[in-house]
Amino acid sequence: MDQSEIRKDYFQNKYVIIAPKRAKRPQKVLKKEEATSTPCYFCPEQVDKEFIVAKDPKAGQAWKILTVLNKYPALTEDNHEAFGRQEVIIETPDHAKEIHELPLDHIEKIIDTYIDRYEAMKKIEEIKYVIVFKNEGGKAGASIAHSHSQIIALPIVPPDLKTEYEAYADYFVENGRCPYCDIIDKEKKSNLVIWEDSHFFVLSPSASQYPYGAYFLPKRHFKTMSDMNIQEKQSLAKALKKVLAKLDDVDMAYNYFFHSAVNNEDYHMHLKLEPRPNIWAGLELGTGIIINTVPPEDAAKFYRQ
Ligand SMILES: [Zn+2]
Ligand SMILES: [Zn+2]
Repeated sequence: MDQSEIRKDYFQNKYVIIAPKRAKRPQKVLKKEEATSTPCYFCPEQVDKEFIVAKDPKAGQAWKILTVLNKYPALTEDNHEAFGRQEVIIETPDHAKEIHELPLDHIEKIIDTYIDRYEAMKKIEEIKYVIVFKNEGGKAGASIAHSHSQIIALPIVPPDLKTEYEAYADYFVENGRCPYCDIIDKEKKSNLVIWEDSHFFVLSPSASQYPYGAYFLPKRHFKTMSDMNIQEKQSLAKALKKVLAKLDDVDMAYNYFFHSAVNNEDYHMHLKLEPRPNIWAGLELGTGIIINTVPPEDAAKFYRQ
């Protein structure tokens, strides 16, 4: 692909300008310096015990995964002007390990912790949505180097999710099928496939607004992250390990997040990965039209190699 191309999202009213640059393969860069000193506030010897919410394993041995309340939350349960709850999942006691460096069974347990806390926070009265996400690297908004994810329980339905759901529902009415099931069908023989097994399908979406953006789609159609069975969690752990290791090779910051159904309506749960190699500027902020300099076909190839 040499020329730029305007592409529309599979089913949402979103556009991207794919504008390939020469020499587009990401260069291996020097590993980022460890910005924070050890031990940090997420290291076992420094964790504030008052803030602990849950441990894995639950008792007996030292923790491998620890859930704590966010120490500096924007939303709290005692503030009716900004009601909500924020938790942090410390993914490993080891300050220097990143999530993709952990063994598969450990990554599976992190997914289990995501689901446990998602379920617990959904039950809080007045909570409308719970989002599980990870920021990795300074450009993606992570302020602490020690590997962690976050969960935020919100008192409002996030507008972006509402907009996506409306597009999802419109697509369903028009086609009688789920758009995400259709993406898997449409792209399974394409050059956008990153990885698949019998449970998960990972692709670079054709109109990705993010360089190296990826969708992690379960092949089975279900509504929330809690509906994942053991095999599906194992597949997701494998897929994350592989894909995130590639981003780490080129030291690229990223965010990922789970999208589950807002209420109990029909939906196709998925995880979206949005790397952040560059900053959005006037065009992006002023119009919502994004320029992506890495064609998704090239991104898929980068991940497959
Ligand atoms: Zn630490
Ligand atoms: Zn579906």
